[in-house]
Amino acid sequence: MSEEQTHGGRQPMVAILSGAGISTDSGIPDYRGPQGLWRKDPDAEKLVTYDFYMSDPEIRRRSWRMRRDNPARYARPNAAHEAVARFAGSGVPVRVITQNVDGLHQAAGVPDRKVLELHGSSRSVVCTRCAARSTMDAALERVAAGEEDPACEECGGILKSATVMFGQALDPEVLGEAVSVAKACDVLIAVGSSLQVQPAASLAGLAAEHGARLVIVNAEPTPYDDVADEVVREPIGEALPPLLDSLRTNGS
Ligand code: ZN
Repeated sequence: MSEEQTHGGRQPMVAILSGAGISTDSGIPDYRGPQGLWRKDPDAEKLVTYDFYMSDPEIRRRSWRMRRDNPARYARPNAAHEAVARFAGSGVPVRVITQNVDGLHQAAGVPDRKVLELHGSSRSVVCTRCAARSTMDAALERVAAGEEDPACEECGGILKSATVMFGQALDPEVLGEAVSVAKACDVLIAVGSSLQVQPAASLAGLAAEHGARLVIVNAEPTPYDDVADEVVREPIGEALPPLLDSLRTNGS
C-alpha cells in the first residue's frame, strides 16, 4: 500500500465513491437510471451482455458501431471531476472508487493509481482470449477504417471494451482494494450514486460500520441516507467543490 496509509499521526484518509450522477454534467447519460438507455431499448442490453457479445458477431458489430457513435467518447471532465482532482493533488490522502467507466476522474488529473474503477474502463479494450489491452481510440480507428469487428492483433481473439459487461464478475483485485479503502477511510463521500447497485452500496455501509464519516451527495434519496452523517441534495457541480475545500481546510 502507499505511504498514505501508514498509521499514527497520519492525515485523515478520504474515499470518494462516485456514480453516474457525477458525469451527467459532462453529457454522459445514466444508462441504468429511470431515463436510461437500457430501459428505453431492452435490446440494447444485449450489446453489453457478455454471452450475447461473445456468441453473436452481429451483436459485436452493433457494439462497435455504438462505441464509435457514442458522444461520451468526447466527454470532458466537469467542475465536480476537477474539484476531486484538485483535492487529490492537495496532499490529502485520497482514493477514488468509481462506478463509472468514462475515465473522467483521470482526465481531470487524478493519477491512475488513486482510482479504482469497479466496472472497468471504456477507454481501453481487452482481448477475451489473451487479455492483451490496448486503447479504445486505436480500436475505433480500425472500425473507422472498415473493420466491423476488429480482432486482437496479438492472437486473433475477440476484443471487447475493458468494462464489466452484464454476466461478468467484477475484477476481484479492484473489488478487494475498494473494500480495504472503505474499511480504512476516515471519511467516505458518496457522490452521484443511487447506492442501489452492488458493490457500491455495501461499500458505503462498510465505511460507516468501520467508523468513517459518511457524506452522501445525491439528488435522489438513497438507502443509506439514514446512516449518513450528512446528506447533500444540491447539484453536484455546486455542492462538491466547497465540500472538498472545507475538508482540506479542516484536515490541515
Ligand atoms: Zn488476444
